[in-house]
Amino acid sequence: MVAGLRGRGLVFSERVEEALLKVPRHLFLPESARSQAYRDSPLPIGDGQTISAPHMVAMMAEALDLRDGQKVLEIGAGSGYNAAVMAELVGPQGKIITMERHPSLAEKATKILLEAGYANVQVVVGDGSLGHPEQAPYDRISVTCGAPRVPGPLAEQLREGGTMVIPVGGLDYQSLLRVRKQSGRIMTEDLGSVVFVPLIGEKGHPSQ
Ligand code: SAM
Repeated sequence: MVAGLRGRGLVFSERVEEALLKVPRHLFLPESARSQAYRDSPLPIGDGQTISAPHMVAMMAEALDLRDGQKVLEIGAGSGYNAAVMAELVGPQGKIITMERHPSLAEKATKILLEAGYANVQVVVGDGSLGHPEQAPYDRISVTCGAPRVPGPLAEQLREGGTMVIPVGGLDYQSLLRVRKQSGRIMTEDLGSVVFVPLIGEKGHPSQ
């Protein structure tokens, strides 16, 4: 699977390739989906949610340019898989805080991450559209659900010189944006069209 992603130019750094090779994706899936763990597709994880396709995890990791020791906020813990890949990239001195609005998914992700040995990942239940001011500022922010616009609290909680990757748009499809904060100004770059489940929350989409 990882060789395929490299062949398609979606993985181009050795660091991201090594991180993807280290994390066993099947561990983060329910029994019923495990046989498909190494196909490049999103898969159901319960509560109507999905684990992102590996090519999307790879694209976001490359776009974030994660470094040893960084503190990262993820919005949308889901299965915990993307958090584990990012934990490999920031190393034991770094930290991943990942937020999930569904308590049952957060509980499963916490258990799997602990069992897999990711002591530097903390799963927080809550509305990630408001971020997690308690541990701000963050070197990197990774949003794995689609927002109608960049939530103000996330832009505020991004460290000066930091980078956020976030899908922004409607419910059908979004643009994957790379947002950089430099000298207090927010600069945005469009990395292409993507499809994510919605960010539901106060600064996201309303829940039906
Ligand atoms: N990163 C995940 C993984 O590795 O499995 C996949 C994330 S899934 C595509 C998007 C997740 O965002 C869902 O689990 C959904 O419940 C969560 N979500 C949506 N709105 C949220 C919010 N306001 N705060 C926290 N999580 C949210």
